[in-house]
Amino acid sequence: SSHSHHNQHHHNHHNHHQLTIFDKIINKEIPAQIVYEDDKCLAFKDVSPQAPVHILLIPKVKDGLTQLQKAEERHKDILGHLMLKVADIAHQNNLKEGYRVVINDGKLGCQSVYHLHLHILGGTQMGWPPG
Ligand code: AMP
Repeated sequence: SSHSHHNQHHHNHHNHHQLTIFDKIINKEIPAQIVYEDDKCLAFKDVSPQAPVHILLIPKVKDGLTQLQKAEERHKDILGHLMLKVADIAHQNNLKEGYRVVINDGKLGCQSVYHLHLHILGGTQMGWPPG
């Protein structure tokens, strides 16, 4: 219905502009254990680690990237940058023998923070399937 379409649109619009806890980390308003930073991205330790090493890698500018399924052509550069930084960050954190990279997308993907982030997990033998 047009009513539900309106609600969906409003929900998406709201998400695009809503600040998350990650904005406070980017702005250094709350502390985080930062392991890598450049002009485009920030990597810091997850506050609730699910592996001996659990790092989150995020774009500094969200630009509508609340979650991976919102990615558009204009995000190609930042998406590429994030993907290329993973190995550097993993190696700097002694994950040379392997690690897991995860993006939780949406409710069924167990996403809880709507600012795109890559989880870098390792320091132990990871299992599969992840559940
Ligand atoms: P996701 O569930 O994929 O959206 O991942 C969000 C992650 O952010 C979770 O693993 C949380 O533990 C983590 N997290 C939430 N708040 C903070 C924080 N202040 N500092 C570091 N990690 C956080």
